[in-house]
Amino acid sequence: MASQRLQTISLKVLIHKKRNEIVMAEADGDFVDILLSFFTMPMGTIVRLINKLPQVAIIGSLTTLYEAVENLEEQLFQIWECKSMLFHPRNPFENECRKLKLSIDDTEPIKYYICSDWNCSRRENGGLYTTFKNVSCKCGK
Ligand SMILES: [Zn+2]
Repeated sequence: MASQRLQTISLKVLIHKKRNEIVMAEADGDFVDILLSFFTMPMGTIVRLINKLPQVAIIGSLTTLYEAVENLEEQLFQIWECKSMLFHPRNPFENECRKLKLSIDDTEPIKYYICSDWNCSRRENGGLYTTFKNVSCKCGK
């Protein structure tokens, strides 16, 4: 069971009530870091997370494209793991994002997989690795 920690983030907003607009916002560094972390997320992750919301928002043709690819048969991909790679792309800043007070990215922590063949995975010029489970190695294993 995941533990939940209560976190607070300070945000002061000055609103122009007649125009229903935010005139000014004052936030601490944590809020700014969270806001800027959204720019590090791959588009596939953003669309996937938005689709989880109870009231689905539509991001133009991205939502349509996502649904079309989601409905494609796995046989149409070079290897079936390609579909998983498309829907669970890695954020290059995921380690930094995990340290934030609030992280909306639900992507599992990165894991590295190597070839099951000891000689193949420990070659002199560096063995191959992947971040996706059950992907075949170049050697076929
Ligand atoms: Zn191999």
